[in-house]
Amino acid sequence: MDYLVETKAAELRQLEVEINAEIERLEAEISAQAAEMRSRVNARERALQADLVRCVAGNPFYDGTFDPTWRTSVVMDLTAAIDAGRFDRLPILADALEEAGCDDYRILTHCRAETHARGCWVVERVLGKVGSAV
Ligand SMILES: [Zn+2]
Repeated sequence: MDYLVETKAAELRQLEVEINAEIERLEAEISAQAAEMRSRVNARERALQADLVRCVAGNPFYDGTFDPTWRTSVVMDLTAAIDAGRFDRLPILADALEEAGCDDYRILTHCRAETHARGCWVVERVLGKVGSAV
């Protein structure tokens, strides 16, 4: 009887060791995955912040001019909506600007970028707030 109890106790101790080892392995795996996810989130956040700075600040060396004939009613209506917060319409603005004769790839490419904010340099130019001279 004592032999049976000792054998079962030894099996339980071995099982406890194996379970604790598995728990440690899983905790290390979770910790590594969390660190990887934090790293990806931080990199994505930095990229988004850089996109926002580029959107608002534009290129300080940009020497293009905005032709007033590009300010068609469609362009101006879209720009008013965008200025009111409908940034999802910027790719449509790119199409409207192209139809109006705009061939400035910097303007068109920026309109088709994913990230925009209030103060977007293209919107400011369309509205004539900056760089509107021809
Ligand atoms: Zn923008």
